[in-house]
Amino acid sequence: MAAMPGQMMQMPLLISSLIRHAARHSGDTEIVSRRVEGDIHRYTYRDAELRCRKLAQALARLGCTPGDRVGTLAWNGYRHFEIYYGASGSQLVCHTINPRLFPEQIAWIATDAADRVLCFDLSFLPLVEQLLPALPTVRHFVLMTDRSHMPAATALPNLSCYEDLIDAEDGRYSWPVFDENTASSLCYTSGTTGHPKGALYSHRSSVLHAYGAALPDAMGCSASDVILPVVPMFHVNAWGLPYSAPMVGAKLVFPGPFLDGKSLHELFEQEQVTFSAGVPTVWLGVINHLKCAGLKMSSLKRTVIGGAACPPAMRQTLENDYGVEVIHAWGMTELSPLGTLSKLGASHRHLPAEQRQHLLEKQGRAIFGIDLAIVGDDGQALPWDGKASGDLLVRGSWVIDRYFGDAGCPLRELDGEMWFPTGDVATIDTDGFMQITDRSKDVIKSGGEWISSIELENIAMAHPAVLEAAVIACRHPKWDERPLLVVVRKPGAELDRERMLAFYAGKIAKWQIPDDVIFVDEIPHTATGKMLKMKLRQQFAGHTLPDA
Ligand code: ADP
Repeated sequence: MAAMPGQMMQMPLLISSLIRHAARHSGDTEIVSRRVEGDIHRYTYRDAELRCRKLAQALARLGCTPGDRVGTLAWNGYRHFEIYYGASGSQLVCHTINPRLFPEQIAWIATDAADRVLCFDLSFLPLVEQLLPALPTVRHFVLMTDRSHMPAATALPNLSCYEDLIDAEDGRYSWPVFDENTASSLCYTSGTTGHPKGALYSHRSSVLHAYGAALPDAMGCSASDVILPVVPMFHVNAWGLPYSAPMVGAKLVFPGPFLDGKSLHELFEQEQVTFSAGVPTVWLGVINHLKCAGLKMSSLKRTVIGGAACPPAMRQTLENDYGVEVIHAWGMTELSPLGTLSKLGASHRHLPAEQRQHLLEKQGRAIFGIDLAIVGDDGQALPWDGKASGDLLVRGSWVIDRYFGDAGCPLRELDGEMWFPTGDVATIDTDGFMQITDRSKDVIKSGGEWISSIELENIAMAHPAVLEAAVIACRHPKWDERPLLVVVRKPGAELDRERMLAFYAGKIAKWQIPDDVIFVDEIPHTATGKMLKMKLRQQFAGHTLPDA
């Protein structure tokens, strides 16, 4: 017998519905931004939604048609927020680009995505001018500023002023209704090998992620919150907060490019921020500032820390000294990004304090919408006993199915289902708490940003005095991990640390250059000739970097 169809309305899950909802139901709630120019800008969801509609009109006037990519090089701010909605809401794809990458990489990403329009903050004008010859797909450049800050002369053809574009429109625009599986936004992640790869989110995946992220045992967003995302909007959509905040009607506070401890604390206090989110390195800066200046947090109640493991001491300091609850989270660009968060359940309340702390230090439990598995070397599922550790696989409504363009399908099969291999190694306990124990992918995560060890090795190998080179992650108190270069010199060749490091200048972003070089006689290999990085990591686990 055929199943009986339900009789409910079909209302597609569209990103525009989030901002529309906020404008209608929390119209007076504020969005506050520290601008690139340094001053504070404030307006409401009602104002924002009108400007998003005007932006949608302006992008159409520039010739954008459904599916076109609109690139952004921008900090967290209200204009970037408007592009999130104005572009995606009008069936364009909002493509956020990480401005911290090496210029050639930025150009490669914009060209791979075939960005038609590139919107950028004032701070990136010289960068975009420099990149112009390498941006063949971009037809229009939009400087996210007002008329008074426009440059008198520029090499950029078709450069528009963002505020002029908005002012020229009347806002008489209705958000279109279309298939919720339409692409909404695009974010590249640095791969372990080769070029970065794009994760192409859909309206459906983004709205479902916003629901999931807002749940009480996830980020727990509410209309009574004042939310300051420190995590950049060019880094996996600021972990979805620009979507979850309007969904619940929370006030939003954007810090612009000012991410040092002092600037952030000032904004926390001025705007009475209750909830924030960022990588451990950012919180280190905040804690240092609080300690040095003898300050307290008067309003901040909780923060999500993720992108790299949250050190237990950081949790204790924030909770015990400043009364800020730390929610440890794990995720990935390919997961939109939230996968797991560490919150206790009713049954954990009676555990001894030490055991509760131990659970909270793990990466946590999956949000509904995400499924986890761990597998051993034989590809078989491992038990959830908190001891067996294996490759972490995920599947779910906001996990990529394949990478953008022809960058491939990474999925693998387990028990008849397709799963995304995360490249992380983990245990899962009987209660479902996942803990990352290692990483099988060959990358280094410094201050929340990726550095490809293979790229660094290739550069070193190009040096005439280098026989073999390996790059491994070395623990660093501020950046969590920093690259350490291990080199075997060619017989008779001369090479010292300084000359080796100088060889990287101009070939890669400065912050990606290894911190130190160790010269060895030999690098250990597997039987098949692959470098045994695990062994190197063990060998140099105690190495202290020069500035650590
Ligand atoms: P994000 O930085 O937003 O998590 P990325 O795609 O840049 O997204 O990085 C994802 C990777 O970062 C994970 O696969 C994992 O290796 C690492 N990572 C993220 N969160 C944590 C965490 N809480 N603990 C340990 N590693 C983490």
